[in-house]
Amino acid sequence: MCRECAENYGPDEHEQRFCQECHVWYHIHCMDKILKTPSSCRLSQENAELAEAWVKQGCLSSDVPLDALHEAIRILPILRGNIAGVIESDYPLIDRWRITGTGERREAWLNVWMREEVALPCDWMKQLGHGFIRFTLAYSPLTRYSCPGCGSAI
Ligand SMILES: [Zn+2]
Ligand SMILES: [Zn+2]
Repeated sequence: MCRECAENYGPDEHEQRFCQECHVWYHIHCMDKILKTPSSCRLSQENAELAEAWVKQGCLSSDVPLDALHEAIRILPILRGNIAGVIESDYPLIDRWRITGTGERREAWLNVWMREEVALPCDWMKQLGHGFIRFTLAYSPLTRYSCPGCGSAI
């Protein structure tokens, strides 16, 4: 349920963002857009170019630019939904994160695999999913919204 409008979450139509300060989900249409994406929510020039080149090349699994992916996951908002808006040709499989949110995979990358400074699990690409990797690299930085509770850019 969204704290602003008290409506339930409908993953087909609704897109929501999670505020990590307030621990609450909000519909994007229940928040104000932040017109200028804060610089902390943008990829560095170098990583933005690497990400763009990878997407242009056709998103080959073997060539994922890891530094760019790391930064893109770090700035990725926790979001879910809008399945009806997903272009089938871009994402042939509707991945589970579309329904439950990007938080779980973001958490695995940032706070498990990267924090422990162990090697990435050999199936990390499978665990994240090609669609998730592509979404993360292709769509960073996404439009941010102002959390109605605390004002964070989410
Ligand atoms: Zn709402
Ligand atoms: Zn908040």
